[in-house]
Amino acid sequence: MIPFTYSRPADTAAAIREAAHAGAMYLGGGTNLVDLMREGVERPTALIDVAGLARDVTEREDGGLRIGAAATNTTLAADRRIRERYPMLARAVLAGASAQIRNMATVGGNLLQRTRCLYFYDDATRCNKRAPGSGCDALDGFNRMHAILGASPACVATHPSDMCVALAALDATVHLEGTDGARALPLEALHRLPGDTPARETELRPGELITAIELPPLPMARHSTYRKVRDRASYAFAIVSVAAALELGADGTIRDVRLALGGVAHKPWRARAAEAELRGALPEEAAFRQAAEAELAEARPLRDNGFKVELAKRTMVAVLGQLTAHHAGART
Ligand SMILES: Cc1cc2nc3c(=O)[nH]c(=O)nc-3n(C[C@H](O)[C@H](O)[C@H](O)COP(=O)(O)OP(=O)(O)OC[C@H]3O[C@@H](n4cnc5c(N)ncnc54)[C@H](O)[C@@H]3O)c2cc1C
Repeated sequence: MIPFTYSRPADTAAAIREAAHAGAMYLGGGTNLVDLMREGVERPTALIDVAGLARDVTEREDGGLRIGAAATNTTLAADRRIRERYPMLARAVLAGASAQIRNMATVGGNLLQRTRCLYFYDDATRCNKRAPGSGCDALDGFNRMHAILGASPACVATHPSDMCVALAALDATVHLEGTDGARALPLEALHRLPGDTPARETELRPGELITAIELPPLPMARHSTYRKVRDRASYAFAIVSVAAALELGADGTIRDVRLALGGVAHKPWRARAAEAELRGALPEEAAFRQAAEAELAEARPLRDNGFKVELAKRTMVAVLGQLTAHHAGART
């Protein structure tokens, strides 16, 4: 057991001040961090509890929403505005963890939860993320759940969040505050691919606090969904997941589309190649398949996860078909 201090600052400024000390870490609901401390993977000397800070979801003037970083996953999934205007996000949150965990888990913590790679948690194995330079035992190990896109010889871990996949598809913005002031990043730019430095997972600066997530107004997101393929019907991380929104033009072609994949990469994977294929195309299975092929063209599966490539394609095709049928139903 490594001793650590615990504090509950009254506001953002105090939290940031306290986080300036080496070894300090923010604590949200603790559903990931406390597990990692028990395993000896994280060893903070000070925990700064930010779960009581910004917990609300509020309207933006432009018709979007601002979600406080300490809003719980349950708050998010139950919010009527999110359910109606961004159903893919409510579905993604509800597809994650269990009701009890969602009651504790915060939005900020969800963004920064660590990978579920078994080798990352097991300190009897080599892991470049846990111990930089030690190697990666997942490469030749049990790698059924691992990345097929954007991985590197240093790391093949995936990002585990469901929520982040929807946030990537929705063009969400992450608001940050640190000793150098406040700034904002597109969600898509927050997480990094592993490259040679898999221990560095995000673009966050030391001590920076996530204060809020903003969702832009996106009328097409009313017709959106999230599908998660996993080993059990609940309480399991994604093997592959797809967040999608689709808008058809008056001529029946696809006017706009948003697509992101989970369970396939070190970060939530915005499927921009597929989106480019789909814009202007007729919403037919052949076009969906072609788009999925384009997105997965660079896939590099490992020994145990070749099936994910086809699974990702089929899930994209199925979800796009479901959204098209929904549109057709809405018109008749
Ligand atoms: C059994 C189990 C099953 C799960 N299944 C799923 C699943 O299917 N899908 C899914 O998406 N998730 C799943 N989760 C993960 C769960 O969603 C995360 O543990 C949770 O979202 C993390 O939120 P938290 O507030 O508890 O974070 P914490 O554990 O408190 O913190 C996580 C990290 O975020 C940092 N942090 C927290 N808040 C901030 C902030 N405001 N600014 C900067 N840094 C911050 C902490 O320092 C820490 O590094 C599961 C978890 C468990 C235990």
